[in-house]
Amino acid sequence: MDLTSLRSHNDRTVLRLVRSGALSRASIAAEAGLTPQAVSKIVARLIEAGLLEETGTVRDGGRGKPRTSLQLAAGGAYAYGAYVDRDELRVVKLDLTGEVVSTSSAPLAPMFTPSDVLDALEPLVEVDEKVLGLGIGIAGPLDFRSGVVSPNGLPGWSSVPLRALAEERLGLPVVVDKDTNAAVLAEAWRRPLRDAALVFVGTGLGVGLLLGGEVHRGARSGAGEFGHTTIQLDGPLCVCGRRGCVEAVHATTTGVEAARVLAAAVTNLVQLLDLDQIVLSGRKVLESPELYLRAMPDVDVSVTSYGPDLVPVGAGLLVLGELF
Ligand SMILES: [Zn+2]
Repeated sequence: MDLTSLRSHNDRTVLRLVRSGALSRASIAAEAGLTPQAVSKIVARLIEAGLLEETGTVRDGGRGKPRTSLQLAAGGAYAYGAYVDRDELRVVKLDLTGEVVSTSSAPLAPMFTPSDVLDALEPLVEVDEKVLGLGIGIAGPLDFRSGVVSPNGLPGWSSVPLRALAEERLGLPVVVDKDTNAAVLAEAWRRPLRDAALVFVGTGLGVGLLLGGEVHRGARSGAGEFGHTTIQLDGPLCVCGRRGCVEAVHATTTGVEAARVLAAAVTNLVQLLDLDQIVLSGRKVLESPELYLRAMPDVDVSVTSYGPDLVPVGAGLLVLGELF
């Protein structure tokens, strides 16, 4: 699907408003500060492209003349999202509303190579004209702009041009981002988040940061390496070569003590960035969420509601989100 003509600022504004519930052309015009004529033209174009549909009539405020209401055409466009985890590739297909329409996965053998990932990916992604692209979430470090990755913990993966390789193999636009950034995008799709951290506690420990409503990637796409901030001078040796990193200290503790270690580090993060929402996720947290929730600082703390689809959904939203 060629959407290049539909990516103007006003098109995105209209799609965003319809997604958030501004239902009629008149209410869209009022919200967007556009003339009714301009909105009519944009809406006609979006209906023509199959992204919006008319659903019936509403009466604004119960009075006045009935207006035709609009909604996103769920089947108008799709995006795939993939998560390259340490032992599994997980793929979801999202419709235009961000709902998961299918999920699939393939095992990844220990020491898997980039070719192994592409081989696993290819049969799980069906390319057609309505598919906008594929987002891939993977451990950092990586360069968001070039899609070149050197993920921690994957031997042999050094400066792999994953985006280019996947585009060539699949014939589809591809976006690559850190798994934690994808995860925080997924959370922000479901509910309003503005200054928030998604804390991901798996094999490693990282955060996806949303500052002022935008994903914060930093100068070299390196933001969020929360697991490698020091909380114990002369503490245990970390995989990164330094001592006393949160990740290393957390890994040497269990139960309540592990939760306390994480909570201390999260408290530092909240203090530093003035965050008001923390979302906990990852295998370790999902094993004993109550333990972690109880230890956290006094801000709005919750556990992700996505389960294992968190990163793949967020990866798909990297693509879909460009329409909004
Ligand atoms: Zn470290």
